Amino acid sequence: MSRPSIAVIDLDALRANYRLACELSRQGGVQGQTLAVVKANAYGHGALEVARALEPLAPALGVACCDEALALREAGITAPLVLLEGIFSADEIELCAHHDFWPMVGEASQVEGIAQARPRSPLRVWLKVDTGMHRLGILPEEFPHLHRLLAECPHVVNPVVVATHFASADELDNDYTSLQIERLKALAAGHPLSMANSPALLAWPQSRGHWNRPGFMLYGSSPFTAPHPQADRLRPVMHFKSRVMAVREIAAGEAVGYGETWRARRTSRIATIPVGYGDGYPRTAANGTPVLVNGHIAPLAGRVSMDLITVDVTDIGPVAVGDEVELWGPGLTVNLVAAHAATSPYELLTRIPARLKRVYQSAIST
Ligand SMILES: *Cc1c(COP(=O)(O)O)cnc(C)c1O
Repeated sequence: MSRPSIAVIDLDALRANYRLACELSRQGGVQGQTLAVVKANAYGHGALEVARALEPLAPALGVACCDEALALREAGITAPLVLLEGIFSADEIELCAHHDFWPMVGEASQVEGIAQARPRSPLRVWLKVDTGMHRLGILPEEFPHLHRLLAECPHVVNPVVVATHFASADELDNDYTSLQIERLKALAAGHPLSMANSPALLAWPQSRGHWNRPGFMLYGSSPFTAPHPQADRLRPVMHFKSRVMAVREIAAGEAVGYGETWRARRTSRIATIPVGYGDGYPRTAANGTPVLVNGHIAPLAGRVSMDLITVDVTDIGPVAVGDEVELWGPGLTVNLVAAHAATSPYELLTRIPARLKRVYQSAIST
């Protein structure tokens, strides 16, 4: 048997989640299109495989930058690719035009660079406005001038999509999202708009526009901390699993792992699993973080090592070498593990390293 720690990626669940995003995009007034965001190696799921699975369904895919887009193009992905972080230098403008990359630009200098460029093919551009995130985006007062500059370029395809990004759409009782929506709608009425990320698409119907931009929800976890009727329809895509490698009994008073951070209060059975922070299991996961062993919840006992974790299986019946372990997936949400690791589920998924083998599964051929 080879090392049993793997991430099984359920491409049927991925497609079902994308279809839910499309269903939400089509509700309400506008017939919104749904960009499938696959940046950061598709939030750790493998950008190429995810792009291949979604390309037949999605009118365009979203990545962070030209390098991510080029890697997908060179591997044969032909869908338009939106560059969510825009461009970093003038030479990327020609690349965008040539490869059908659509940069989302949010700095006056980028807009001016595009206006001065003369790419050999027409260029699609999204113009990002800062409505309150204060990270990227042109200022509202710059909008009329910079929008006109783009729209009047002979090489820019009209209409230009006007976008913004939300600071707090995952907070369902925080009205800042409404304020950001109102600001963009007041500024850019009549233009095609793109606002919604995953939490907004799920929970803020007024944010839906001509293009919606879900990422995280495609991978099947809820962006919210509380239950939500739409988010509860998502199906987890990643099943991060392993098998028990060793089981030992230790006496009361003995400690487990680096730094002796967990100490047995009774005679305890400890199962050792060959997975660690080198595989993307968070080192910050505290003692007591739930791990599923044979379908039963058992608490993490001792510090997460690079290649191993240890779990207290005293209370879950017989456990033997080779038994099934789930770190997160259909039986245990990544959100719960993230809460025990003092981080966000976005980070846990995105940090899955190349070392962890990903296995792609689909029962449906498309
Ligand atoms: C990453 C990103 C998204 C997707 O956000 P999720 O919360 O993962 O849905 C949307 N828009 C922009 C600009 C992004 O950078």
